[in-house]
Amino acid sequence: MSDTIFAVATGRGKSGLSVVRVSGPDAAAALESFQIRSLIPRRASLRRLMARDGGVIDEAVCLWFPAPASFTGEDTLEFHCHGALSVVSLMLELLGQIPGFRLAQPGEFSRRALDNGRLDLASAEGLSDLIDSETEQQRRQAIRQLMGGLSREVDGWRAELIGVLALFEAELDFSDEGDVDTGVLHEAGARLTRLRDQMASILAAGIRGERVREGIIVVLAGAPNAGKSTLLNALAQRDVAIVSPIPGTTRDIVEARLDLGGYPVTVLDTAGLRTSSDIVEQEGVKRMLARAAVADIVLWLQRADELQAGLPAELEDVTGIVIPVVTQIDRAPAGGDGIAISALTGEGMSQLFSVLGELSTRLAGSGGESALLTRARHREAVAEALESIDRALGILHSTGTELVVEEVRIAMRAVARVTGHVGVEHVLDQLFSQFCIGK
Ligand code: GDP
Repeated sequence: MSDTIFAVATGRGKSGLSVVRVSGPDAAAALESFQIRSLIPRRASLRRLMARDGGVIDEAVCLWFPAPASFTGEDTLEFHCHGALSVVSLMLELLGQIPGFRLAQPGEFSRRALDNGRLDLASAEGLSDLIDSETEQQRRQAIRQLMGGLSREVDGWRAELIGVLALFEAELDFSDEGDVDTGVLHEAGARLTRLRDQMASILAAGIRGERVREGIIVVLAGAPNAGKSTLLNALAQRDVAIVSPIPGTTRDIVEARLDLGGYPVTVLDTAGLRTSSDIVEQEGVKRMLARAAVADIVLWLQRADELQAGLPAELEDVTGIVIPVVTQIDRAPAGGDGIAISALTGEGMSQLFSVLGELSTRLAGSGGESALLTRARHREAVAEALESIDRALGILHSTGTELVVEEVRIAMRAVARVTGHVGVEHVLDQLFSQFCIGK
C-alpha cells in the first residue's frame, strides 16, 4: 500500500486560486478531516473546509475522482482554494497531520500515473515538456507527444515486429528441421522492409525535435568591442549583458532566450576572440570556442571600421552555420560581406531577425508537422532498432532463422524503451526529478 501524497499543483505565490491535490489509497480521509460531506464523483461542489476546532479554513470547490478514473489512477481529490499563502500553508499543515499522508516529491503524481498505466514514458515526457514549454512550436510538439503521437507510432512498430516474430515462430513449431518456408521469408522480408522505411523517415527528421525542445543555440563571436553584448541586448530587447567600452568585459557567457516564429532560440554572448594574458578572460575565450563548436548558428561579428578578410582560424572548425555580421555601421560605412547592422540605431536589425527566423525554421521545423522524436534517447533507440532490422534483412535468406529472430527481438526491445516498456528505470528517476512538486 503506498502513502497518500498531497501538494499544491498551481504556481507559488499569491494568486486568485490555488489547487491542492491529494492522491492515494486514503485520499478520502481528507474529506473526513475537513468535515466535507460525500462528494459526487467528478462533479465540482462548493464546500466549506472546516478545521477540527470548528473554524472555517476556506470555502473551496472540491473534486473527487475515485480510482481508477483519475490522473494518477488512484483515489484523488482536488481542492480549488483561494490562492492566499495563509490558506495554502494551513491546508498543507493539516493534510500533513492525517495519518498516512505526506507531501509529494517532484513529479510524484505523474510517476504514479505511469506506474498505474495511465501514462507511458513518452507521454510523461510530453507532459514534462508541455509544462516547460515557452514557445508555440514547443507547445505543439509537447502536446502531440503527451497525446500519444510518439507512443502510437512506436506501439505500431512493436506490434509489427511481434507479428514478424509470430510468423517465424509458427513456422518453427511446425517444421522439424527448423526450415522456414520461402513464402514466409518473403512476407517477413516485405514487412521488415516496410517497417524499416517508416522508421528511417521518422529518424530522418534528425535532431529537429530536440532543437525545438532545447532551443536553437546561436553564439555571438567576434573580437572584443565588436558589439556582441550590445547586439545581445538589442536582440533580447532588454539589458541582459554588461556593455562597456573596455575590451574583455564579457568574460563569462550571458544568454538571452528569444522566441522566433515559435521556435526557441538561445543567444549566447561570449568572451571576445583575442589572445589575453588575463587568466579569467582566457577561460572565457576557451568557453566561447567550446560553445561555438556546438552552436547551431554562429554570428561572426566584425566592426565596420575594423573589417578583416576571412574567418579567424578558431572558427574554421565549427559545425554550425556561420553568418558574418558587420556591426556599428553608424560609425563607418558598411563594407565587406555579411548582414550590416547598427545595434545602436537599429539599422539592419530587422534583416538580422528575419535571417535568424528563417534559419530557425530550417533547423528545427519539419514541414509544418512537429517532429516525433524529441530526445536523444528516442533517436538512439530508433537507430538501434533500425540497425537490427537491417541486419535481420541482410541475413534473412542466408543464415538460420535463430539469428534473424534474435535481431528482431533486439529491435523490439529497442523500440519498447521509447515508451518505457523495458529497462528504463534510470530514465524515470531522471525525468520525474525534473518535474515540479504537485505535478
Ligand atoms: P563586445 O565586447 O563585443 O561585447 O562589445 P560591446 O557590445 O561591449 O560594445 C563595445 C563598445 O561599442 C561599447 O562602447 C558599445 O557602446 C559600442 N557599440 C556597440 N554597438 C554599437 C553600435 O551599433 N554603434 C555604436 N556607435 N557603438 C556601438
